[in-house]
Amino acid sequence: MLAAVLTEFGKPLSLVEVPNPSNSMKVGATGLCHGDLHILLGEWSWDIRLSLPIILGHEIAVVKEGKTYLVYNARGCGNCKACKSGNPQYCERLNVIGVHRDGGFAERVDVSDLLLAPVNGSPAETAPLADAGVTAVSSVHGIIEGDRVGVLGTGAVALLSVQLLRNIGAEVWVVGRNQAKLKKAKELGADELVFSKGEYSTDLSGSVGLRKFDFILDYVGSDNTLRELPWLLERTGELRVVGEFGGELKISEQLLVLRGLRIRGVLYGTYQDLLKAIKFYEAGKLKTLALPYSLKEINTAISDLMEGKIVGRAVIYPDSDEFG
Ligand SMILES: [Zn+2]
Ligand SMILES: [Zn+2]
Repeated sequence: MLAAVLTEFGKPLSLVEVPNPSNSMKVGATGLCHGDLHILLGEWSWDIRLSLPIILGHEIAVVKEGKTYLVYNARGCGNCKACKSGNPQYCERLNVIGVHRDGGFAERVDVSDLLLAPVNGSPAETAPLADAGVTAVSSVHGIIEGDRVGVLGTGAVALLSVQLLRNIGAEVWVVGRNQAKLKKAKELGADELVFSKGEYSTDLSGSVGLRKFDFILDYVGSDNTLRELPWLLERTGELRVVGEFGGELKISEQLLVLRGLRIRGVLYGTYQDLLKAIKFYEAGKLKTLALPYSLKEINTAISDLMEGKIVGRAVIYPDSDEFG
C-alpha cells in the first residue's frame, strides 16, 4: 500500500510503498492535527517515545462495506484509575494510534484493538470528529447557557468548540491573530471577536470590560496565550488549557485562592465524547470544516497548516479514492 512515512524529524514525509498491515481496514480519510506537526518537527520527542520510521495520523475514519467508522484513537492498559473512568488518554501506558504506532496517513491501517463508532457521513467530511471533535466536546463539559466564555485560538478544535458553545447558549468571545479564521468563528456563532496583535490577555482584557469570563478555553497553550490569563476570570471561574504549544502558566496564590479559581488541562476525551460529537454532527449542529487533500498532497497540506492557510481541518484521503 501507499503510505506517508516519517523517517526523519523536520523532513517532508516520504511517500512510499509499504506492506499492508495485518488485520487492516481501508482508510477513508485521516485528519491532519497540530499534534502531527509537533511530532514531525521533533518537538515532542522528549515527551513521547517515538520510534522512526512511523506513519502518523491519529484522526481516522475507516471504511467497511461502504460504511464509515470513526476510530477512538487512545488505548490504555484497561486496569488503572484513568482507564476505568473511561479516560485512557491519561493512562501511564497510553498507546495512541499514529503516535506510538502506525496511523492513518496510508491506504490501510490496523485498528483491530480500538473502539470504532459508525457515522452517517463521508470519511473525508467526518474524520475531524475523531480527534478535533472529541477534544472540542470534552473541553466544553459543564459550561451552561449564559456563561461568558473566552476562546483563545482559531484552529480546528477551537472552531468546533465555538459551534458547541453556541448550541449551549454561552456567550462566546474568540481571540485570534488570523482574520480569515476569526471571520469563520463569527460565521459559526461567536458573539465577539478580538483581533490580537500582541499579548492575547492584554487584548482580551482591553475589550471585555468589567464582567470577566466564567470559563477561558485556551486552545493554543503558548507563553503568549497563557500570560496573565487567570486575571481575566470571574470569581470561581475556570481556565482550561487544551492547546499544546508548550507555554508556561504563572499564577499568584492570592489570585487563585481569594477568587477560588480553577485550572485544568484537557487532553482529548472519552469514547462517549466521540459519540456525542457524532450526534451533534448528524443533527446538523456541528460542521467539521474539512478541507480534503489527497495522500500524495500530504506535504502540501502540512506546509499549508504551518503557514496558517487552513481554516478548519486538512483531511488526507488515499489517492485511489475520490473525495466524497
Ligand atoms: Zn490530534
Ligand atoms: Zn490504564
